Amino acid sequence: MVIKMLRCLKCGRAHEPARTLYTCEKCGGKLEIVYDYDAVAEKIDKKALAKRSMGVWKYRELLPVDDPKNIVTLNEGGTPLLEARNLARELGLKHLWLKDETRNPTASFKDRPMSVGISKAVEFGAQTVVTASSGNAAIALAAYAAKAGIKCYAFVPADAPEAKLAQLSIYGARAIRGAPKGIGDPAYKLMQIAHKRYGWHPIPSCSAFNPYQPEGSKTMSYEIIEQLNWQVPDWVIVPTGAGTLVSGNAKGYFEFEQLDFIDHVPHLAAIQAEGCAPLVRGFKEGKPPHEIPTWPNPKTIAGGLVDPYPWDADIAIPAIRKSEGAAETVADAEILEAEKLLAKMEGIFAEPSGAAGLAGLGRLLEAGVIDRSDVVVVEVTGSGLKDIKIVTQLFEVPPVIEPELKQLEGLLEKLR
Ligand SMILES: *Cc1c(COP(=O)(O)O)cnc(C)c1O
Repeated sequence: MVIKMLRCLKCGRAHEPARTLYTCEKCGGKLEIVYDYDAVAEKIDKKALAKRSMGVWKYRELLPVDDPKNIVTLNEGGTPLLEARNLARELGLKHLWLKDETRNPTASFKDRPMSVGISKAVEFGAQTVVTASSGNAAIALAAYAAKAGIKCYAFVPADAPEAKLAQLSIYGARAIRGAPKGIGDPAYKLMQIAHKRYGWHPIPSCSAFNPYQPEGSKTMSYEIIEQLNWQVPDWVIVPTGAGTLVSGNAKGYFEFEQLDFIDHVPHLAAIQAEGCAPLVRGFKEGKPPHEIPTWPNPKTIAGGLVDPYPWDADIAIPAIRKSEGAAETVADAEILEAEKLLAKMEGIFAEPSGAAGLAGLGRLLEAGVIDRSDVVVVEVTGSGLKDIKIVTQLFEVPPVIEPELKQLEGLLEKLR
């Protein structure tokens, strides 16, 4: 690790990286981790990276953990970048790639940030961690806490899907559902209350309360660039809730540019569901990110993208603008269609939130923002097995017949 300092994004105060610190000690603002890139460049170059095996910790010099002994890993990251020829043909595109994050240990990209978040908590000597999440971040944190042998409390929304709650519980996390009350996010409120009262280390999936974990998401960008043989794609499309993933991704590209591994960055597109799109609205209206209001009554099938308050819009929106990118919403019907297309045409089963990027690609092609000759990467962020309710409703229960040719023939006649 080659951290220069932790800088407060609100008051600018610089902090030494050595101490247990989650927010600015002066104003409580969000901390940004600043690396000494000259020192990083002395330790790694393209050739050295090419020799290492894939995964998040391949990029350890660009991650905020001091002692490799503290790394808690389940072999996250190193996911395939799959060429989607069938979908490309369907959409009239020349080059379409899917970053398949469903292959991570707990089946979403959140394993990248949570591996980093837990490793740093271990370095700080944490006994107990606490999170607020719509599901996937809590699940990932629970798995890594289990591996590290530390206690995990998770505050989740009252309507979290059954499969996600089960996955959370089997890893041994104490899951508590927060009921909505007034404005703001009940899960986040509970996390803050518990952090203050009990001193549990906060590891939600946004940087407002923990600056270390978002660093894990940078590794998706590093991998995409390496998997494309150091070519920069024209567009990278990112399903978006609080804006942490897209801002983490952006930092990865800017760092590779800073290190001269690439000479420009891709355009980033943040995609939110129509039923909860505070970040996209803020982007389009050009509001200062701190003035973006909490989204009232969020409603979408993409539960992983429900962040009524976009905690990291203040980092995400400027980063998207700097990349000359875009932000767009998609309807639930489009998300469901994208989920079906991913499975039927490319063999990838994504949860609705994980398919939202592909739905967004459709919109951006129609609007002429993305050109059909562009090289496009769509991030598929979470597995369909986490949220099967809608899918179960789409299909009839398979028929039962006796093991006889006649019955089979009769049935095939009908199925045709
Ligand atoms: C968390 C999550 C995202 C991105 O959310 P951000 O809050 O913007 O970081 C996207 N897809 C899935 C499946 C997620 O769980």
